[in-house]
Amino acid sequence: MNYADLMGDDFVSQTEFDRYLNCVDCGCDFVFSASEQKHFVANNVNSAPSRCHNCRVILRSRSTSRKGAGSISAVVCASCYALTYVPYKPNGQKPVYCGSCLFNPSLELCV
Ligand SMILES: [Zn+2]
Ligand SMILES: [Zn+2]
Repeated sequence: MNYADLMGDDFVSQTEFDRYLNCVDCGCDFVFSASEQKHFVANNVNSAPSRCHNCRVILRSRSTSRKGAGSISAVVCASCYALTYVPYKPNGQKPVYCGSCLFNPSLELCV
């Protein structure tokens, strides 16, 4: 599969299917789900992500946090039990969800 094809003009019109992309940072394959694609389009983001959820969180916290990357916490998703990273310290009272569960509309999030 040619990943370059996924970044073209057809991005907005083809949000019906899950896509498998390759993270440029850690090299792992990650799912860019159909619901997540719709979320991107709804927010006028017209390009597919080049990083997996975890690397995006790490990158975002690096670029926004003046205190460095020390605020990243590794947590277990309350729904699928996948390891995920969040740019804050969970207080243990609210459940934390991974990227795919957050964008899963069929999941009832109790936040
Ligand atoms: Zn990654
Ligand atoms: Zn999950």
